[in-house]
Amino acid sequence: INITNLEKVYRTDEVETIALNKLSIEIKKGEFVAVMGPSGCGKSTLLNILGLLDDPDAGSFVFNGTEIAKYNERQRAELRKHNIGFVFQSFNLIDELTVFENVELPLIYTGVKASERKQKVDEVLEKVQIMHRRNHYPQQLSGGQQQRVAVARAVVNNPKLILADEPTGNLDSSNGNEVMELLTNLNEQGTTIIMVTHSEHDARYSHRIIRMLDGQTVTENILI
Ligand code: ADP
Ligand code: ADP
Repeated sequence: INITNLEKVYRTDEVETIALNKLSIEIKKGEFVAVMGPSGCGKSTLLNILGLLDDPDAGSFVFNGTEIAKYNERQRAELRKHNIGFVFQSFNLIDELTVFENVELPLIYTGVKASERKQKVDEVLEKVQIMHRRNHYPQQLSGGQQQRVAVARAVVNNPKLILADEPTGNLDSSNGNEVMELLTNLNEQGTTIIMVTHSEHDARYSHRIIRMLDGQTVTENILI
């Protein structure tokens, strides 16, 4: 990921808010990066742009060697479905679907056939150790279990990149640590991870902390 002089301005009737102010960052394949900074500094805006859910007003965003601005809406949707997995603070599972069905959804969207779906879903449920709950509904699970299901859903398509927005924000520390271990394992298998967090503890699982302030980076620490 190569981001150069990225700008995002929100305009409402009276006010103009500069959310990203000539932000430049580079994230290499296989990195695990934490993005930190006070509320309002532009973290969510950055994550939305990285996830191709929103467009910058100016600047360059190169993903996998291609300038994103050159893609049309359909191509972005394809890129998103196949290459990017999302994990949210509030899990965002569908309550009416079982664990298995929730995790199966991204595979249905990408047109994977039923027999292959079953195999892939079971494989990933095994990986996040939630196989024994595969026919339960989200409300029957603890927060930690729900987030493990959400991680399974994010990775079932084998994305190159996982974007996590405060993945432990609604979890106690023991469940939070389990989710962080899971992300660490995925990263060790080659998945690039970009995680927004308010937790210095969680940030220590990453390789590098990008600290933001007022829509810019202030430091990019390399951790050992
Ligand atoms: P958003 O990224 O959607 O703008 P915020 O960054 O304001 O949301 O906050 C996300 C969550 O993190 C909220 O639950 C908020 O209470 C919590 N939070 C915000 N700032 C801090 C902080 N400095 N330390 C711990 N928790 C925080
Ligand atoms: P963070 O995630 O670090 O809390 P955000 O990216 O959510 O920061 O917000 C950055 C700035 O942009 C903040 O000042 C926020 O109030 C503003 N902002 C975010 N989304 C919108 C929006 N849809 N309309 C107007 N202003 C917004």
